[in-house]
Amino acid sequence: MTLAPGLLIKKSKINGKGCFAIVSFRRGKKIAEYTGERITDLEARRRARKRRYLRICDIDGRVSLDGSRGGNGTHYINHSCRPNAYMKNLYGHVLFFALRDIAPGEEITVDYEQTLLPDSKRCHCGAENCRGTINKL
Ligand SMILES: [Zn+2]
Repeated sequence: MTLAPGLLIKKSKINGKGCFAIVSFRRGKKIAEYTGERITDLEARRRARKRRYLRICDIDGRVSLDGSRGGNGTHYINHSCRPNAYMKNLYGHVLFFALRDIAPGEEITVDYEQTLLPDSKRCHCGAENCRGTINKL
């Protein structure tokens, strides 16, 4: 796996492995693009059912990217109810941006809000304002 510049994958306190910054990212700056195999949402739902860790990102309600095939480390970005990054869909590309200044060593997190995980999937992000589930119900 070739990681996007400035990123490192290691064990996370939140969930399994996580994606960590090894450089600083200034607030508002692009962190990386979500890469992976382009698949239909139907195929995404089929794969999601069999996975403990999802690693699939929906682009537009029709096409998804499966980061477990051809991902650059961004597919390890965990959910947090108090994230330091956010995702933005720009012309069919999913990009991660820093929500605030991120220092080297920090785990990069986003609020995924809606995932292919079941709505009952519990969140263990540890934030004070944790809503208890990964999907925003
Ligand atoms: Zn949470």
